[in-house]
Amino acid sequence: MHLICPECRTDGVTGSWSFLTGQYRCSNCGYVGSFVIEMDDENYQKYREEQQDSKSED
Ligand SMILES: [Zn+2]
Repeated sequence: MHLICPECRTDGVTGSWSFLTGQYRCSNCGYVGSFVIEMDDENYQKYREEQQDSKSED
């Protein structure tokens, strides 16, 4: 399972860092919130490929 940050779109999210608040924290951009994108390995791999494709179009 991968947790994707909705702000910077990386998997820098460090899981639930507080059971009291149920929030997640991104170590990449510092995002803190209860919403993250959850992906299994297969979807994550496709996601990364799509990210690379969109970058190459720039
Ligand atoms: Zn982030």
